[in-house]
Amino acid sequence: MSFSELGLNEGLLNAVARLGYSTPTPIQQRAIPAVIEGRDLLAAAQTGTGKTAAFTLPILQRLSCQTDHRSKNPRVLVLTPTRELAAQVGESVREYGGDMRLRSTIIFGGVSAVPQLKALRQGVDVLIATPGRLLDHVQQGNIDLSEIQVFVLDEADRMLDMGFIHDIRKVIKRLPERRQNLLFSATFSPEIRKLAKSFIENPVEIDVAPRNSTAELIDQKLIYVAKHQKRELLSWMIGKNNWQQVLVFTRTKHGANRLCQQLEMDGLTSAALHGNKSQGARTKALQGFKTGAVRVLVATDIAARGLDIDQLPHVINYELPNVPADYVHRIGRTGRAGLQGEALSLVSTDERPFLRDIQKLLNRQIPELKIEGYYLKEDKGEPADQQKPAGRHGRPAPRDQQKPGRRNARGAGNGQHAPQSRRKKSNRRRQGAGGQRPGSA
Ligand code: AMP
Repeated sequence: MSFSELGLNEGLLNAVARLGYSTPTPIQQRAIPAVIEGRDLLAAAQTGTGKTAAFTLPILQRLSCQTDHRSKNPRVLVLTPTRELAAQVGESVREYGGDMRLRSTIIFGGVSAVPQLKALRQGVDVLIATPGRLLDHVQQGNIDLSEIQVFVLDEADRMLDMGFIHDIRKVIKRLPERRQNLLFSATFSPEIRKLAKSFIENPVEIDVAPRNSTAELIDQKLIYVAKHQKRELLSWMIGKNNWQQVLVFTRTKHGANRLCQQLEMDGLTSAALHGNKSQGARTKALQGFKTGAVRVLVATDIAARGLDIDQLPHVINYELPNVPADYVHRIGRTGRAGLQGEALSLVSTDERPFLRDIQKLLNRQIPELKIEGYYLKEDKGEPADQQKPAGRHGRPAPRDQQKPGRRNARGAGNGQHAPQSRRKKSNRRRQGAGGQRPGSA
């Protein structure tokens, strides 16, 4: 399919060609005709899928047909969670709409409101804004949203994660009843669905896989393991396989923090990435991960999204997501250009229902990897954490851990790292967490 088949005018096709886009991405193929038609849209897509052009191009197409528009009030409102994203969308509007006589303005907090006010007074067609500053302007009577025809909520899940739900609702109240609504979100949690339902009517639903989630390139495996053994198994796997850059997903922020601390105690340099971290802390964690200073990045779904940390060799689902689409987004982080990536899920008994939903979505069974000492007998029907561990001292141990040399097998870095006994762990605590890097023992 080419861009010329999507119903875009010549100016927009020229802009697309100028930018060197030859083929529309999957989300663009589906969203552009639907938006031009005037339909509401509910799209699951993350950064990198071409989602910005997927809504900007058809919106500009619609505006280009309104030749008799005279009002100074905005016709399009794009709400974004961050000023960076607002700037990015603004840039796209300028690039794609270069051939049109169109006024667009970006509004966000943390900077002087004076230039924003000036731009608003001159008249705006497309307004791109973060919720807080937008509401300030609305409350001061600087913006009239009563002529908005298209309302876009970009990265809706991140908005909710950042606590913008009330602001979003306040903004929506100011919009005219009759309008087109487009909602983009990388994940679709029950909260997002509830929000979507409250203002979107009979939408076209689009779910595109992240760019490198071609299933063939991702080697997906799962290990059935008792919840209390997950951390030990994870450290052991990282060490044994000498993985140097591992992205680990947890379900909660608290879980991410705790796991991160535990991995540090196992001698694995780790950083947590979640919604409670400041932008500075996130950037630092990410930078460390990219340069190799941080070996394990423990993230929640929301925090990992939108960040440029794809093409990783190893993604671990420490906990399965309860939204099946999130699994696809998570594992889409792996699969290096042309090379295979690995996605491993640690599944405890209580997560079986999540696994069932995921396998249903994938329409396939994820192959099981059995690790001696950790293997949970599925047919026992016992709660995972009550099954008798297989190892000595009440701790299951992978077979090679029991071979000679086990005692000094702390080397996560040399492929020999083995789970620690409780006694060793407490010794290490006394030495200070993260004191020794695995392999240096
Ligand atoms: P987004 O998902 O909107 O953040 O876009 C990710 C990147 O893909 C941006 O740098 C766009 O310029 C680029 N892009 C968008 N659509 C296309 C396309 N059809 N072909 C090639 N690149 C694209």
